[in-house]
Amino acid sequence: MSESMIIATTLEELRQARSLLDNPLGLVPTMGYLHKGHISLVERARVECASVGVSIFVNPTQFGPNEDLNKYPRNIEGDLKLLEAAGADLVWMPTPEIVYPPGFQTWVEVEGLTSPLEGAMRPGHFRGVTTVVAKLFNAFQPQKAYFGQKDAQQAAVIRRMTRDLDFPIEITICPTLREADGLAMSSRNTYLNPQERQAATVLFRALSAAKAAHQAGERDADKLRQAMSEIILAEPLAKMQYISCADYDSLEELRTVSGKALLSMAVYLGKTRLIDNFVIGE
Ligand code: AMP
Repeated sequence: MSESMIIATTLEELRQARSLLDNPLGLVPTMGYLHKGHISLVERARVECASVGVSIFVNPTQFGPNEDLNKYPRNIEGDLKLLEAAGADLVWMPTPEIVYPPGFQTWVEVEGLTSPLEGAMRPGHFRGVTTVVAKLFNAFQPQKAYFGQKDAQQAAVIRRMTRDLDFPIEITICPTLREADGLAMSSRNTYLNPQERQAATVLFRALSAAKAAHQAGERDADKLRQAMSEIILAEPLAKMQYISCADYDSLEELRTVSGKALLSMAVYLGKTRLIDNFVIGE
């Protein structure tokens, strides 16, 4: 661990600072507006690695034209305080022009796994994610990288990319941190008004109901999807975009749950789109 946290902007600054850090380096990529969920990833990296790097970059290429890029919340000062307290050694905060200089035309794209779920609802999203994460891997040269189960499909896609492109990096997926009432922590929770915030527990409630049904022996995936949708439909402020009960590895929709499965959903509370998931059958 270094004495004080280094903050880099350009790629050259980042590479220079990184070259002085001990291996293994653990990388935590983020879009900032950090909460305890992000910090749990940094803390895990702190325990497992000699040095810890964090990126803060609201990646424009993973946002669709009608998404919240321009209003995505930011709090650099608060973020840096939290990261320093959590023991990060190096923070990279590049500008969009640094990551995507004029003439940029190279993309990293994972195929099948990005088709369903978030990929179906957010065309181009994962192409932006995998491209920026590949660039972060090249920039930081980490031995380990940490991602949250909160973004389950993203975690699966990054694992796939890492294997397929032979990045010599161990990927660790960390559990979802939740508020006391079950709402998964997310930078986007800040968009919710008090009524929407209360109603937002509907994702956790729906997932919990399906998990309980599975524990009670229900194996019909349609019944599990129905258990979730009933709860969402009963919440007047919530609008369901999709619900899924999919194979954990392929992310294909199941008819019968026989092994590890992913229950997941995207739900609108007003204009705010929230996602959440549970793994069952572990
Ligand atoms: P983001 O800033 O939303 O891109 O998230 C950065 C990383 O933090 C991603 O790997 C997320 O999956 C992870 N993350 C976000 N929310 C949580 C949470 N509530 N618990 C654990 N990890 C999270």
